[in-house]
Amino acid sequence: MKRRKFIQNASLSTFGIAVGTSVFASETKTSISEVSNPKSGTSGFPMVIATWNVNSSTAEAWRVLQEGNSALDAIEKGCMVEEANAEGQSVGIGGLPDRDGNVTLDACIMDSKGNYGAVVYLQHIMHPISVARKVMEDTPHVILAGKGAEQFAISEGFKPIDLLTEASKKAWEEWKKTSQYKPIINIENHDTIGMLAIDKNGDISGGCTTSGLAYKIAGRVGDSPIIGSGLFIDNEIGGATATGLGEEVLKTVGSFLIVELMRQGKTPQQACEEAIGRIIKKNPDYKDFQVGYIAVNKKGETGWYSIHDGFWVTKYQNDKNENFHSDFYDKK
Ligand code: ASP
Repeated sequence: MKRRKFIQNASLSTFGIAVGTSVFASETKTSISEVSNPKSGTSGFPMVIATWNVNSSTAEAWRVLQEGNSALDAIEKGCMVEEANAEGQSVGIGGLPDRDGNVTLDACIMDSKGNYGAVVYLQHIMHPISVARKVMEDTPHVILAGKGAEQFAISEGFKPIDLLTEASKKAWEEWKKTSQYKPIINIENHDTIGMLAIDKNGDISGGCTTSGLAYKIAGRVGDSPIIGSGLFIDNEIGGATATGLGEEVLKTVGSFLIVELMRQGKTPQQACEEAIGRIIKKNPDYKDFQVGYIAVNKKGETGWYSIHDGFWVTKYQNDKNENFHSDFYDKK
């Protein structure tokens, strides 16, 4: 996998918060395309698509779909693979902590009936995607936060563990030495898994799971668990999900925007490009941060686009688990 160029938001940099990427150790690439703009891409389902090079996650989701299970089951199981990967420093166990050294996780899930569940600022639980599903299915609420989310998870049988691995603790200690409260240029950092799936019945679900921005201010929540921003599904139209600087995705409600653009007749590719365009138009600082979107419509046609080079997508469709190097706006 190529590393994403480490890109930093100028406004956040004063707090020493960085945006970039980590490498997913569990990747098992089957093929790689050149920079791609999938205007004439494939269609069909079942299928699954995810942000970044997460072949093991899409393979697991595909396996679940092949057994005839729902897109919702595929999303949960697929996301769990990366959440359990201690070497991935952006999702689940091993995620890079906030500036106080606490690993805090955000996740959400949405099904084909329009149901949604999320956890924000969840600590000590390895599988926030599964807790989000429990919030959706077992409570009258849609979002649980912090201690309450943790207590709920424990009451549902999730085991509390220490999510801070030695490697992430070391990285945090290193960050504290050199970068505390100072702008950081090109620090290695973060990716979120956003995943969209269509099952054999043509029903769509999605999920999004992350440890958020590394070294964030305690209490910060990004786009990933927020409906319409990090993820949105409308089973009549399609779905979209995001990665990158959550603050910018939140301000433009990016995933909802993409689904609405597809409703108006845009292809998934056109919709992703327009959503990136909205961020760029409003924000002269776009050169300093990255956002990437992926989308799928009801036929299983897909699209993806980012502000800068370095965004990758994994798609399992028509029996092929493939990585795609996304086309991007800022060609310099
Ligand atoms: N979107 C995530 C957040 O802002 C981070 C990422 O995708 O790298 O929390």
